Amino acid sequence: MSHDKADVVIVGAGIMGLSIAHQIARRDSRRIVILEKAFNVGEGSTGASCAILRQRYTHREAMTVARDGLRAHRNWSAYTGLAEPRARFHHTGVLWMMGETPAAIENGRRTMADLGIAVEVLSAAEVRDRFPALNTCNRPFDLTGATEHECADHPAFLFETDSGFFDPVSATQDLLEAVRREGVDVRLRTKVTGIGTAGGRVTGVELADGTGIDAPVVVNSTGPWAPRVARLAGFDYKTHGWTIHPIRAQVIYREWPREVVPGPIPVVADSSGGIYFRPEAGGQQILVGSIREEDEREVVADPDVFNGNIDAAFRDVKIHALHHRIPSLPYRGQITGVAGMYDMNVEDVHPVIGPTPLEGFIVVNGFSGHGFKESPAVGSMLARHLTGAPADEWDTEAPMEFFSIDRAPIELKERAVLA
Ligand SMILES: Cc1cc2nc3c(=O)[nH]c(=O)nc-3n(C[C@H](O)[C@H](O)[C@H](O)COP(=O)(O)OP(=O)(O)OC[C@H]3O[C@@H](n4cnc5c(N)ncnc54)[C@H](O)[C@@H]3O)c2cc1C
Repeated sequence: MSHDKADVVIVGAGIMGLSIAHQIARRDSRRIVILEKAFNVGEGSTGASCAILRQRYTHREAMTVARDGLRAHRNWSAYTGLAEPRARFHHTGVLWMMGETPAAIENGRRTMADLGIAVEVLSAAEVRDRFPALNTCNRPFDLTGATEHECADHPAFLFETDSGFFDPVSATQDLLEAVRREGVDVRLRTKVTGIGTAGGRVTGVELADGTGIDAPVVVNSTGPWAPRVARLAGFDYKTHGWTIHPIRAQVIYREWPREVVPGPIPVVADSSGGIYFRPEAGGQQILVGSIREEDEREVVADPDVFNGNIDAAFRDVKIHALHHRIPSLPYRGQITGVAGMYDMNVEDVHPVIGPTPLEGFIVVNGFSGHGFKESPAVGSMLARHLTGAPADEWDTEAPMEFFSIDRAPIELKERAVLA
């Protein structure tokens, strides 16, 4: 069997593997190889991502990761070193319509402002002024539409002014170009079928074609495939208290008739309808997803074979919720959608990041629907850990230990995507 050598092998070329490689390669010249089983980059979770870049989370550490990720996404050309990147930041802002009391909103505003996150409190009138299509009611209602509902203005809403969303697939293409320029060896159609270990540490990987790569560091950035790939190294997340598995996550695209539904529309998190939504397809569609825990429970047995279509029941409930938030939306209009996979950490819907007791085996898994926005900061944490190179403008202040595999589950009120 022929064996190459590398300093770091990264398994998986989704947004995470590429970001980690970029963050290491721009610091030093160690030999990095990325191995991706698909024909192209970004074909896993990343390809289906809504790539929303919001900064509000329950915990300051998670907000810091999102904030520092946003800085890279807002300055993508400088961050990637590409003069003309394909991906672009869509600056819509993120509006939180969560039915919170004015005191809770003010508390949220203060915490975020302390972290340097640009945030405003808007009244119902101010929301209507900026986003005339939006209904400012936050009363709960019957999502089946069977019971009458009377709308009433909610007094206040939180608005992240600098946030928005990104182009996820183009971002992976940009990072592919960036890391190849930086000397990273990216091999597509290259499946890792084994991970070598000896004396409590990793020794490298075996590939489907019978060859292998010797390396002292192997990073598992395989998203929904992570538990399967970890098992190749004899590593089980459950032994460390974590249940990580792929779950099916559905997203709807609703045609946006601009002549009757006026723009702009920001990214919206909507508790009364249990949805989030944002503009899509250059403003020709509205993309709708779920913020409810019960929509994040369908475990995918085999991530290579899963149902990528949307369910009619999911579609009907979410579209009904969208009509509540955008009353001028006509009942006729094209609706399509896709299902992708989250790599869900059932214990606390946050990732496990960093070294493991198997020396040289690094995990970056369980992103539970947050990974896109976090990827530049996660890359920076790992690059700093592996190279010791000091922080710069594309680094994060968030401590990797907050996400370490030996932490206790993070305390949360709800274990859903907004946690
Ligand atoms: C519907 C949906 C909406 C989302 N919305 C958002 C959002 O709005 N904001 C946000 O921040 N995040 C969002 N996310 C989450 C985010 O997209 C993910 O957390 C992120 O893309 C995970 O990236 P990854 O690189 O870890 O995994 P992936 O993109 O899945 O990449 C893993 C790669 O590993 C490869 N691989 C697997 N096994 C092997 C092997 N044996 N050998 C070689 N290669 C292998 C796979 O082919 C794949 O390309 C969303 C996700 C989904 C599905």
